[in-house]
Amino acid sequence: MSSKVDIGFDRYLTYSEVTDYLRKTAEAYPDLADLESAGKSYEGRDIWALTLTNKKTGCPKKKPALYVDGNIHPGEVTGSMVALYLIDYLVDNYGKDEEVTYLLDTRAFYVLPRVNPDGAELYLTTPTLLRSSVRVWPDEEVDDLPGLHREDVDGDGMILQMRVRDDGRGEWKVSEKDPRLMIPRRPGERKGPFYRIYPEGYIKDYEGEPIEVQKPRFGLDLNRNFPSNWDTKVPGGGDFAGSEPEARTIIEFIVRHPNIGGIQALHTSGGFYYRNPCQYPEDKMDPQDLKATREIACEGTRISGYPDVKSPNRATLTEWAYEHKGIIAYTTELWNRYARAGIDLVEWQKTIDPEKREQQNLKLLAWNDRELAGKGFKDWTPFEHPQLGPVEIGGWDPKFCAQNPPPFLLKQECHKNALWIMKHAGSLPEVHITSLKVVDIDGSVKKVTAVVENFGYLPTCVTNKAKELGACKEDVAELLPGPGITVLGKARLEAGFLEGYVSGGGRGGPPKSAARFTWMIKVDPEASTEFAVEYRSQRGGIVRRGYPEE
Ligand SMILES: [Zn+2]
Repeated sequence: MSSKVDIGFDRYLTYSEVTDYLRKTAEAYPDLADLESAGKSYEGRDIWALTLTNKKTGCPKKKPALYVDGNIHPGEVTGSMVALYLIDYLVDNYGKDEEVTYLLDTRAFYVLPRVNPDGAELYLTTPTLLRSSVRVWPDEEVDDLPGLHREDVDGDGMILQMRVRDDGRGEWKVSEKDPRLMIPRRPGERKGPFYRIYPEGYIKDYEGEPIEVQKPRFGLDLNRNFPSNWDTKVPGGGDFAGSEPEARTIIEFIVRHPNIGGIQALHTSGGFYYRNPCQYPEDKMDPQDLKATREIACEGTRISGYPDVKSPNRATLTEWAYEHKGIIAYTTELWNRYARAGIDLVEWQKTIDPEKREQQNLKLLAWNDRELAGKGFKDWTPFEHPQLGPVEIGGWDPKFCAQNPPPFLLKQECHKNALWIMKHAGSLPEVHITSLKVVDIDGSVKKVTAVVENFGYLPTCVTNKAKELGACKEDVAELLPGPGITVLGKARLEAGFLEGYVSGGGRGGPPKSAARFTWMIKVDPEASTEFAVEYRSQRGGIVRRGYPEE
């Protein structure tokens, strides 16, 4: 498979390549795609948004929509690539694949593949590792602080680790089972040799004193800058909620597109889906919202094997999306190297026993030798450090093994997650006017009856939370009279919300996913009976049916 704009998905694209791909795709598929700049980054790069839908079946704003973004954390470049793959898969398969065709005919996708272009560019074009924004925060002098600053000392393009022999203080030693593996010095252990391990780097104003290691340079976290449970204690949260241009661009884009009923934020790593609620127990969440959130995630688990996990984070995009907008939202943590090595991530996180940890690490190294031909781990190599003297530099490739898949494994990561994103889009509400009848009552007076149905899994408000918050306008049914027709009574009827089939299957019987609306109209003697009925659902679509039907 590849669209008219072939990028192969076996490498990570820089900003200009992403821009080029999006421009060419919008040009090659004018009936399906539109490109716009949603806003500017801190350094002034455009944050691109590609809208996808079949324009011939209606404009995107009139359709239920899914929002997808990637790479708010600059090192999580797999997120961008999954978003681009989704675009590629949709445009390439329109008219060939039944599901893709249906989705683009009935829904819109807003895809922002690289929402932190400055950070991603630094990550992809230099050895630098960073958490989020390139804006130095909160301390502008952070580069001048004493201590070790991470840098690529040996010039191999990666910031790895330095091990220094230190039989007195060293807290690490070499595993007897594999000389690459460093294992912790056990309590009370006295027989060396022992080592200290530092991040690769130089020490500011070093005069032989104990070395303090400085945190990676960038303290901001753009995904903690959203206005839900934000306060000044949120780590990296910024000066105020929405203070950063990238977060604000996302917030404003979502607010400008009230038809968005689902959000996918693409991150790495771990191989799981973070879901709401984040800051309170599940039994405090609306039961139907929880059911829908978990059932949609379950479709993803079936495809990718990634479980859904309750998020512990606050002030994130996805927390804000649910808590303030009532949108079902996931933070997907792509790529799980532990699973590929045959290690359960939850087990890994729970492990304290150093012998068990050693076994797990040996499995990771064995996987590296087997599947990556040894390229994920750089052997400890002697190096004469200008400040520390003889050291050895080595360790796991932090960017394209630990944080992201090695390029040759990228495409399968993209494929399975793009398929899940499509399932999420498929679950959105979708309204149809399924019947429209006119009955003569008395001479010029006629009764019009329309039946509107939601074919979607989710209700037209998407969540009960949205209803509670007033975040989604109630549906409206309106009769739009032609010339010479008078509506007796109200033309515009409040319609509440239509349930989706997520509500069904219980003792209460089938869900209330359909509603009937009636109007009385008076037709002038010279006029013909011509009118239309429009049903407007903010998140379920705007549909219209004319009478007489063509
Ligand atoms: Zn992330």
